[in-house]
Amino acid sequence: MYTSIKSKPEVHIFSSVLFQTNTTLLVFPTQLLLVDPNYTPQELADIAAFIQQNFPDKKINLFFTHSDYDHVVGYGIFQNAAHGIMSAPMAALPSERKKDILQEIKITDATWYIERSPETLIFPPKDIVIEKDGQLWEIDGYQVRFYFAPGHTADGLVCFVNDICICGDYLCDTEFPFIYHSFEAYRNTLQKLSQLFKQYDTRILLSGHGKVAAKSAEIEHRLLLANQYLEDIEKEVISGIPLDENYLQKQYPFWWGIKKFHHENLALLRKEKSGGS
Ligand SMILES: [Zn+2]
Repeated sequence: MYTSIKSKPEVHIFSSVLFQTNTTLLVFPTQLLLVDPNYTPQELADIAAFIQQNFPDKKINLFFTHSDYDHVVGYGIFQNAAHGIMSAPMAALPSERKKDILQEIKITDATWYIERSPETLIFPPKDIVIEKDGQLWEIDGYQVRFYFAPGHTADGLVCFVNDICICGDYLCDTEFPFIYHSFEAYRNTLQKLSQLFKQYDTRILLSGHGKVAAKSAEIEHRLLLANQYLEDIEKEVISGIPLDENYLQKQYPFWWGIKKFHHENLALLRKEKSGGS
């Protein structure tokens, strides 16, 4: 699915049929910022054709919000981009981990019989590495600020430009928080995002999956739901009384597909609470 927003800068969003993973394109006067290009080879070819047709003279820059396989899968198609931006923790991933991430793409492709040229399967190399929280990147007179966002994964990175926030896999309307890295870090990141939304007067939230939130009220609502979920699973882990999963089932239309992540969240939180890591 394709959507565009007449914001400043202008935004184009391409949503994959797989997990509704979003590719976001920000259009600056002479350059582009292409975020997490994905997923199927046909969808990636369509995005490349869209850019070629509409912005043939603009330089492409890439931004990877985190290292999950569905967010790095498109690098190989855009490997001639001017720059690729990622967080320092993502740049520092050991090569074994990078191989595993590429393997996840191969397994997903094999599961759905997706044909992809093996030579496009490349993990994005280090280029512009964000080392400092709030680091500034200037592009065509616009100020883009990057902030670390650990919790979903350890290497998450979000960015703010004007009233737009690109927030990776946080605050998606399609899913409750998926906590692969750390519950504590996730909670801190939500708090940090809430402050940053105020600071930047954010009105457009571009999440990694699902629909754009184009109103402050919708952004607030998503924050509320995410915080509520964290509170609920913490309550369950502390009290031992299972949460009523019916409300999650009603809230999230893909519940039967994502239910396992809820149980994995609980397991991770139990481990964190008992002092394991
Ligand atoms: Zn994702």
